[in-house]
Amino acid sequence: MRASVLFEQGKPLSVEDLELEPPRRGEVLVRMAASGVCHSCLHAADGSWKGVPVPIVLGDEGAGVVEDVGPGVDGLQPGDHVILSWAPTCGRCHYCVIGRPNLCERRQPGRGVLPDGTTRMSLRGRAVYHYGHVATYASSTVVHESCAIKIDTTVPIDLAALIGCSVMTGVGAVINTAAVEPGASIAVFGVGGVGLNVVQGGALVAAHPVIAVDVKAAKLEHARALGATHTIDASREDAVAAIRRLTRLGADYTFVAVGDKRAVSQAIEAVAPGGTCVLIGVPETGATVPMDVRPLVTAERVIRGCSYGSARTREDLPRLANLYLAGKLKIDQLVTRRYDLDEANEAFRALAAGELARGLIVF
Ligand SMILES: [Zn+2]
Ligand SMILES: [Zn+2]
Repeated sequence: MRASVLFEQGKPLSVEDLELEPPRRGEVLVRMAASGVCHSCLHAADGSWKGVPVPIVLGDEGAGVVEDVGPGVDGLQPGDHVILSWAPTCGRCHYCVIGRPNLCERRQPGRGVLPDGTTRMSLRGRAVYHYGHVATYASSTVVHESCAIKIDTTVPIDLAALIGCSVMTGVGAVINTAAVEPGASIAVFGVGGVGLNVVQGGALVAAHPVIAVDVKAAKLEHARALGATHTIDASREDAVAAIRRLTRLGADYTFVAVGDKRAVSQAIEAVAPGGTCVLIGVPETGATVPMDVRPLVTAERVIRGCSYGSARTREDLPRLANLYLAGKLKIDQLVTRRYDLDEANEAFRALAAGELARGLIVF
């Protein structure tokens, strides 16, 4: 199997031929069709997130075709089209049974292993880690069965990759985490791959206004095409004042879809009394943000985290795929550029430079 491997944080990836063990009990082998290039992988590669185990195959947003299934796998067979989920679920831990499977206790965040604590990839006898349980920058990958979610074969499989992380996270932040009501105002800080999906999630549930905030004019333009009713260029004007001008009291919901501390501070400040600030982007390890406690307390403002759009993956990933087929979600427009596997470094460069909504590695 060919994969793009990170040997050291801060260094470029290189394409290698890796050994891939067959799937064990409860696992499936997936031949990758496409993988999105996600900002979380860029953070892992450039070293802004510390402690990523190496060597590792990055990539947490992918789709492909099941090629083989291990013993005990129920409901998947070779030929099935699947979206990969980076959040395994066991169906029986506390969080799975209370309906919050995105917090499943079997997740091994940051450890680079499958839910059983081991790896299936190696290079000349040395273990190679799996990023986000799925390691999608690879021609084939072995994942836990709960990380392979079957979808209809009529969904274009390359575009389906994006549903596995950025679409689920952004749209899910609106419809699951915040459960935004029709007519509520929202402001989205950072309209890259995830933020654009918060914008289209807002349009989907008839939020109004849908305000996009970014420092790049091209991204704001893109946000308009996906449903933003207003845009604020935070490099030119005070985003908090502009949001107050548009909403009078502040936005009912603010979303931070970028790992930036200043955006977090502004998004907390721009929330209306009784409103909620949803934090999606993960800043560098150890980042802290000072906050004025009084306005939170006296006006019952809420700050909450959002992991994977509070996904209930078995339900939500096929649901989002169906919304795409019904013409209610845009995915084609999210793909800025397509790359070969050996162009992952160039895709990271373009992502860091703010040139991409989504880069897509196609196999
Ligand atoms: Zn991702
Ligand atoms: Zn669980």
